[in-house]
Amino acid sequence: MRDVIVGIDLGTTNSTIAFVRDGRPHLVDVDGSPLLPSVVGLAPDGRLLVGRAARNQRHLYPERTIGSVKRRMGEDLRVPLGDDRYTPVEVSAMILRRLKAAAEAELGHGVHRAVITVPAYFSDAQRTATREAGEVAGFTVERILHEPTAASLTYVEGTERSGTFLVYDLGGGTFDVSIVRVQGDLTEVLASHGDTRLGGDDFDALLFDLLRRRFEEATGADLREDLRARARLTRAAEEAKIALSSQAFVQVTEEHLAEVDGVPRHLDTEVTRADYEDLIEPLLERTADSVATALREASLLARDLDQVILVGGATRTPRVAALLQERTGRAPHLDVDPDKAVALGAALHAARLAGEATGRILVDVTPFSFGTSYFGTLDGWPSNDCYKVILHRNTPLPCRQAELFYTVDVGQDAVDVTIFQGDAEDALDNLQIGRFLVDGLDPKARENSPIVFDLALDLNGILQVTVTEKHTGLRKHVVIEDAFRRLSPEELVAARLRVRAALGDDEDEPTGPSPIGAPPPDLGPEDRAAWAGAVALTEKADRLRADLDGADRDEVDELTEALRDALDAADLDAIRVHSAELADVLFYLE
Ligand code: ADP
Ligand code: MG
Repeated sequence: MRDVIVGIDLGTTNSTIAFVRDGRPHLVDVDGSPLLPSVVGLAPDGRLLVGRAARNQRHLYPERTIGSVKRRMGEDLRVPLGDDRYTPVEVSAMILRRLKAAAEAELGHGVHRAVITVPAYFSDAQRTATREAGEVAGFTVERILHEPTAASLTYVEGTERSGTFLVYDLGGGTFDVSIVRVQGDLTEVLASHGDTRLGGDDFDALLFDLLRRRFEEATGADLREDLRARARLTRAAEEAKIALSSQAFVQVTEEHLAEVDGVPRHLDTEVTRADYEDLIEPLLERTADSVATALREASLLARDLDQVILVGGATRTPRVAALLQERTGRAPHLDVDPDKAVALGAALHAARLAGEATGRILVDVTPFSFGTSYFGTLDGWPSNDCYKVILHRNTPLPCRQAELFYTVDVGQDAVDVTIFQGDAEDALDNLQIGRFLVDGLDPKARENSPIVFDLALDLNGILQVTVTEKHTGLRKHVVIEDAFRRLSPEELVAARLRVRAALGDDEDEPTGPSPIGAPPPDLGPEDRAAWAGAVALTEKADRLRADLDGADRDEVDELTEALRDALDAADLDAIRVHSAELADVLFYLE
């Protein structure tokens, strides 16, 4: 029988176990989910609880529940659990045993060897304690691996990817950022920085306070001593936070949350994503400062980074990726599941130690971004063609995301909705894939009345768009069957012309059929963009040359010809080179 080595992410909030099967890392479900809450408790009947059940009783029986024990690793103390007291190593071993049992149940045989991950900032004492916990749980600990290294491994495995990565890990209670360099089989952490008191739990706490304040102000209740109500609100806050990762707003309702003068009072309030983002912005700013510090310590600039990798459940809050993009100029990589990346990487490392070959981790992601045009400011001018991405490229499928937009006029009775595929800032530079009118809006509505755009995309490229007038619930649902379709460059140009004409925007784009054939069908999105750009350039050259004479015209003709030849030969390197040359010349002649 093969001797499996498992990989374990022993987290502050959640722990995960994985192993490589048939060359691919595989996550083991514990109680129906690969994320086991890192919580240990004693049930009222004296049973030891590990995981979800322990977590659920945490706020009701704090004296019989232990969470976040990872923070205590390496300390010489005992934590009370009912009438007993346990060392942090022992509590961690209880969690590890639960993971081990789940892996053994799935494999049908014993598991004895493990790779366990720790944060890059862990001291020797903390590492040793982690190793001991593994041994107490019955493992031979083959390696203690850095979490950012494991996450990087997940990202590069089976690809040609290498270089310098920024791993941004925001978990439940801790934040750390590491700069990792990967070259072939060699991985090193160049710098690591963070905040061991910052994570998704703090976001929950801010939402909790918002909800508590609103409830107390509306009802005059006082929840300071009301443990049960506080436990319910804590859970409601986390649920609301998770909902706001994919919804633009959330309605929080808790029936009979408390009694005031013997009368039951309910909580019923709405939290928008904007409310939530305002609350957490100062905390995210602190993480951005850590990012800057880590870069400084590694003597790097943001532009030296090859990739930004998101790790940790709390990075599912969309504002996190947006902030990082603002600060580093890089769109973070979203195609590895943030709260599983560390365990998967640990399993990959374990398989290497066991001498097994592993392959690429395939995740289906959307190859394109999708969004909508809106009225705003473009290049300093008011424009109807501003563009907002709603579903980002490289997001794992299926995916769903909602955004709020606002009407412009008082009593506005309709919105004209246009859905595009692409990332360009000017909506008209993207591919229009759907357009429809939502009419019958509330005539009494004020300006800036919120309209919710909800986009849901499945593996087959079926895009469901739902537009809802928020306060009336009036909605229109449209299904776009072929959101992944790619137009040929000719179709693209023609489509843009149609859109511009329809919108009364008569920029002089080329007309008539293009003399150039369609690109090879197997091009990736970047090559396809290069191709389309080249076609557009040859057309622009044809238009401009009539106004040129002498040497200028000869030069344009020569370069255009070279570019056409490159297109005919489908030689993408040549297409890029000649496009750049022709673009330069046209720029000066225009
Ligand atoms: P850790 O590394 O600390 O064990 P995780 O990586 O599992 O933690 O992250 C846990 C945190 O992620 C929790 O605060 C949880 O509420 C948060 N989280 C999980 N899913 C989401 C989501 N969809 N949106 C926002 N936060 C989430
Ligand atoms: Mg973690």
